[in-house]
Amino acid sequence: RPKRAKLGVALVGLGYYSTDLLAPALQQTENCYLAGIVSGTPSKISMWRGKYNIPAENVYNYENFDTIADNPNIDVVYVVLPPSMHKEYVIRAAKAGKHVWCEKPMAVTAEDCQAMIDACKENNVNLSIGYRCQHEPNTQAFQEIVKNGKLGKVLNVDCAAGYREGRTDHWKQKAEMGGGVIYDMGVYAIQGARLGFGEEPIAVNAAKVWAERPEIYKNGLGEIVEAQLEFPGGRMATIKTSFYENTNFLTIQCEKGKIEMEPFSGYNGNKGKSPLGEINFPYQVPWQQANQMDHDAMAIMEKTPVLVPGEEGLRDIKIVQAILKSAKTGMKVTV
Ligand code: NDP
Repeated sequence: RPKRAKLGVALVGLGYYSTDLLAPALQQTENCYLAGIVSGTPSKISMWRGKYNIPAENVYNYENFDTIADNPNIDVVYVVLPPSMHKEYVIRAAKAGKHVWCEKPMAVTAEDCQAMIDACKENNVNLSIGYRCQHEPNTQAFQEIVKNGKLGKVLNVDCAAGYREGRTDHWKQKAEMGGGVIYDMGVYAIQGARLGFGEEPIAVNAAKVWAERPEIYKNGLGEIVEAQLEFPGGRMATIKTSFYENTNFLTIQCEKGKIEMEPFSGYNGNKGKSPLGEINFPYQVPWQQANQMDHDAMAIMEKTPVLVPGEEGLRDIKIVQAILKSAKTGMKVTV
């Protein structure tokens, strides 16, 4: 295959995130561009083809998607579907020989995450999870302080990620589609805890799953979730995630002072402070998404390891499942 300056990306699922963030970001990227689309909605296809100048041969639907294997203009398939569909489309993309980017939450179960990782390995393609935060300079700044022990050891972490979800009949309210706040926003709070400590939790305790609007979040599906993640040495992270209220912060209490980020996982405006000074690298929307995709495209071109591999998505889903089990049983659950 001739070497091209930019990799061709096909977006799968033309919903909110593809439309408002990823497609605009792909107009700014230097290492990749929007080459193709996969959609089940014909009216979106004509709109996208006109707006982004996408040739007919780079357009697929969910039935003929596998023939993307024969299209040399598509290097990467970016799965931006509801969570319950990630597994199927990641595996189909891998079998088609395409590198795969997959949105968070990686999948609904750890078994599904593992099957996705295995399929990408077997087919020799990269798998990256869309945790834009890990590519983000303000996040990397607090990670660097923690990693180098600049404020001593981390003692505890407090993290919240939530927004007021106004929709009432979306996949976010459907358990069978991978809905529920712990999968959607909870993974950000879990990332905050894990990146804040720079270590992995060993257990989950005191998990609570409830709904303030049980007519919308039915049959025990979480609208709000709280939990404690236990880290080595009995140190704790307290996490909260919500579809009921706007909240987004990360506090990392270290021996020699606090790192306070607020917001910590927005599309922009992420900033914070610590005794070492301000953390405030500014940028506009959708720079963060462009930055993530440029990094991931570079890793493919240079054949270097991806920053956020499938294993990273799997770790979070294991924690999600432990939180749900702890809430159900009232017991401490090891991860
Ligand atoms: P939307 O509901 O807005 O879009 C999902 C799209 O998937 C639909 O528009 C549709 O596209 C396609 N689809 C195919 N089958 C179905 C089905 N049965 N039900 C619903 N949709 C279907 O979701 P979002 O764009 O908000 O989220 C998509 C993914 O991106 C999720 O995993 C989400 O967590 C993630 N996300 C990540 C963000 C981040 O910051 N990293 C931010 C927002 C979302 P079509 O009509 O083209 O077939």
